[in-house]
Amino acid sequence: MSEPNISAVLLEKGNLKLEERPIPKPGKNEVQIAMHSVGICGSDVHFWTDGAIGPFVVKAPMVLGHESSGTVSELGKGVSHLKVVLHLTSVETDCFTFTCTCPGDRVAIEPGVPCRYCSACKGGRYNLCPEVKFCATPPVDGSLCRYYVHPADLCFKLPDNVSYEEGALLEPLSVGVHACRRSEVTIGSKVFICGAGPIGLVCLQVAKARGAAQVVITDIDVKRLEFARQMGADVTVHVTSRDGQEVADQVVQRLGCHPDVTIECSGAESSIHAGIYATQPGGVLMIVGLGRRLATIPLLDAALKEVDIRGNLRYANDYPTALAMIASGQVNVKPLVSHRYSLEQTLEAFEFAKKGEGIKVMIHCDKNKA
Ligand SMILES: [Zn+2]
Ligand SMILES: [Zn+2]
Repeated sequence: MSEPNISAVLLEKGNLKLEERPIPKPGKNEVQIAMHSVGICGSDVHFWTDGAIGPFVVKAPMVLGHESSGTVSELGKGVSHLKVVLHLTSVETDCFTFTCTCPGDRVAIEPGVPCRYCSACKGGRYNLCPEVKFCATPPVDGSLCRYYVHPADLCFKLPDNVSYEEGALLEPLSVGVHACRRSEVTIGSKVFICGAGPIGLVCLQVAKARGAAQVVITDIDVKRLEFARQMGADVTVHVTSRDGQEVADQVVQRLGCHPDVTIECSGAESSIHAGIYATQPGGVLMIVGLGRRLATIPLLDAALKEVDIRGNLRYANDYPTALAMIASGQVNVKPLVSHRYSLEQTLEAFEFAKKGEGIKVMIHCDKNKA
């Protein structure tokens, strides 16, 4: 029997409510998923508190959540690579009834649904599709609910040794995979990561897994740096200055050399400065953090050092890599989950996430599974 489809709906800026919505039916090539774990992302909190991120404005009620996993509960037509939960009553005798339940496939959900037809999609860079429909980016509903429908090819079956929470964490991890791939972090790389939040930490783990020789990470929060060290950072630098040159000098001094790659995950202008000043001539500065639309940066320094400044939008074809890295133990994202709430406690969970304490807040949507 299905539970009511409790959904975390952002009605308007500042107004997040649990509502019962109809249980969606999967269409062709889609699956219905009984949701299990949904991580709260900075963007979810932002839409709730500010009602907008850049050009994306909440104009109509929208379900939040895009870092998620669950169990396939219904198949649409044409889906053959996933299986659904089956309840079979196979044996009935005077003394007992033997009921067999085959669980449905556990899956992680890649939240961006591209058009599949444009040149970006056809070229394999579907994250750049102008028509992409991304969970919990207005006006598209997210997956913080009990039942959700998604294209089956964007649902990745989790092997037995990968948990639902790890499945949900594939989303931020895929950002790290994409960023390290685009910035060409490789064996022996010296990497500088600005910001030790969840994205900085997944970039750190992916960089190490790709063979980076040394990773230095910076933050303004000492506790985060302590945690980054536990997650594998070789060097940490506590940022106390807004002067990018000063921070760059500290990074170079502590690292013993200029980094080949800098991955900016803080969105702070001074960190972009630090990245440009610190990066080795001929290196790469990867912009992952989203700050102000117009930034003043030492462009001439970047140009004269041939430091390539590259952008990063989410991920494309990175989920399978992220999943393989978790399944094989090359990365361990489990420690990122610092707090857990039930779907019923969504508001509490958001209030907590807003404070910026902890690392990743996870919401469990499934009543039956812990
Ligand atoms: Zn996210
Ligand atoms: Zn497209």
